[in-house]
Amino acid sequence: MLALQGAFAAHVRVLEGLGARTREVRVRADLEGLDGLVLPGGESTTMTLAVEREGLAEPLRALAAAGTPLLGTCAGLIMLDRAHLGLMDIEARRNAFGRQVRSFESDLEFEHLDGGPVHAIFIRAPWIAEHGPDVEVLATVDGHAVAARQGSMLVLSFHPELGDDHRLHEQFLADVVARRAAAA
Ligand code: GLN
Repeated sequence: MLALQGAFAAHVRVLEGLGARTREVRVRADLEGLDGLVLPGGESTTMTLAVEREGLAEPLRALAAAGTPLLGTCAGLIMLDRAHLGLMDIEARRNAFGRQVRSFESDLEFEHLDGGPVHAIFIRAPWIAEHGPDVEVLATVDGHAVAARQGSMLVLSFHPELGDDHRLHEQFLADVVARRAAAA
C-alpha cells in the first residue's frame, strides 16, 4: 500500500479483511518483495512531490515492468498516467467532473464482473480523457472512461475502498495470487 499521503487506511482495512497481508510503503526499501501495490486516492500533486522526494519513481517503474499487479484509485489513477509516472498509456483529466460539488455516487456496469453493477463513490474524480490501444476501458460515466486495465495494472476513478462492495479489491488480489503462482 503506497502510504505517502491520502486515503490508504481504508484500502488496508479492505485488503486485510479479504485475507491479504499488507505493508505500508513510504521509502524505497518498503517496495522490496511486494506481490502487488495499491496507489490510493488523495491529492496527486502532493503525492507526486512525495514520490520525487523519496526517489520512488524508478523502483515503481521497475515494479510495473516486472508485471506486478498495480491498483490505482482516483489520485492513484492520475499517478499512473502519461504525465506522471508514465506507466499506463492513459491521459487523466484531474477534477474532470468538477470540484467538491461534483462528488457523486453512481452504479457502474463493469465488463467481466459478476454480481451486478458496482456502487461507486466519486470524490473530485478524474476521468480518462485519452488512452492508447493496449488499454481496455472497463466502465464509463456519461461516456467518460472511469475504469480501465492495461496488462497487470487496474485503475479506477472512484473510491472502491469506501462502501462494502469489495469485488474490485478481490479482483486485484486474484491478480496478485495468479502473479505469485506464475513467479513461483
Ligand atoms: N482531485 C484529486 C487530484 O487531482 C484526486 C481526488 C481523489 O483522489 N479523491 O489529485
